[in-house]
Amino acid sequence: MYKADTIRIGGKGLVRSVTLGGDAPIAVQTMWKQPLREDTLAETVRKIAELEQLGCDILRFAVPDAPSAEAFVKLTRITPMPLVADIHFDYRLALRCMDGDAAKIRINPGNIGTEERVKAVIQKAQDTGTVLRIGVNTGSLPADLRNRMEEEMQAGREADEARAAALVEGACREAAFFETHGFKQYLVSMKASSVRETVLANELFAQKSAVPLHLGVTEAGPLVSGIVKSTLAFSKLFEHNIGSTIRVSLSDTMENELIAAREILMECGKRQGGIRLVSCPRCGRNGFDVHGFVERWQRRLFAEKKDITVAVMGCVVNGPGEGKFADIGITGAENMVLLFKRGVIVQRIDVQGLSDSERNAAVDAVFEKELQSL
Ligand code: SF4
Repeated sequence: MYKADTIRIGGKGLVRSVTLGGDAPIAVQTMWKQPLREDTLAETVRKIAELEQLGCDILRFAVPDAPSAEAFVKLTRITPMPLVADIHFDYRLALRCMDGDAAKIRINPGNIGTEERVKAVIQKAQDTGTVLRIGVNTGSLPADLRNRMEEEMQAGREADEARAAALVEGACREAAFFETHGFKQYLVSMKASSVRETVLANELFAQKSAVPLHLGVTEAGPLVSGIVKSTLAFSKLFEHNIGSTIRVSLSDTMENELIAAREILMECGKRQGGIRLVSCPRCGRNGFDVHGFVERWQRRLFAEKKDITVAVMGCVVNGPGEGKFADIGITGAENMVLLFKRGVIVQRIDVQGLSDSERNAAVDAVFEKELQSL
């Protein structure tokens, strides 16, 4: 069975240390969706703490210019979250980011420029104990690999296969360059927007190398299609124990990226414990606003450290019955909202005559109390 080598990121200053590869749990990452600015660092730190509650192990920031590099350096010194600087084109930004307590720098050697520049990044990473991630994509492969890939496709080789082979070759070349310079603290990612190409590339790389892999389907799309693609790719790769860290890329919030990653890991048996949220789809029988309740409570529940099942059901026909294995559940009928524990009703809330906001406040207060009693 494939097992990746182990590397450790973070552990500098007040930054938490995270082990990647080996038998370590798969680490979850997301990427900050706004420009990083020095004048909003306090707010950024607060938001990072919320992301940590939702299971974020590693957080990446785009660092496209000198001001964001300065903000990144400062941020690494005031949050325990292992931070990654994502650098394209300008190797000096990578060097500057390593002046702080950066956990990792993601570079695409294909657009960093000369070997001397990549070497300078490797040397500083070595000196500062910073992990590097080689991020390869087909758009920035060396010309000979791009040409070969195109020739193979013209000759009838399936596009996903030709592109995956080229990605792996590109990644192996960069990895060989790192190893030639005695640098071993790195991961590899091969980014593709197709599920099959992602799976093929990572499987092929794992046959050649035990370097830990960062998995992600890039430009995966909006919430639903992005989760579908990521789930298909990750679950296939997890069958072979491939993947040391993951990011679910979505045209959506960081919170939803984290929740999606968590759910994929749980359903693939890669993470135990935590809240399991069961909710019905709702139908014409509904007597309780399942969608509204889930919307209000989802993030709050996923930030809970309890190892319990929560059921949110639309009606009493199936509510307590279908949710009888839930540690806590909620449903409703006409003017009553019912809370149940393991199928037994423990609270009845009369919501007759209440406005929507009054009803929500009443329901949430009772639910919170019952939840905390578990
Ligand atoms: S629990 Fe009730 S409202 Fe929800 S889907 Fe089932 S029958 Fe419909």
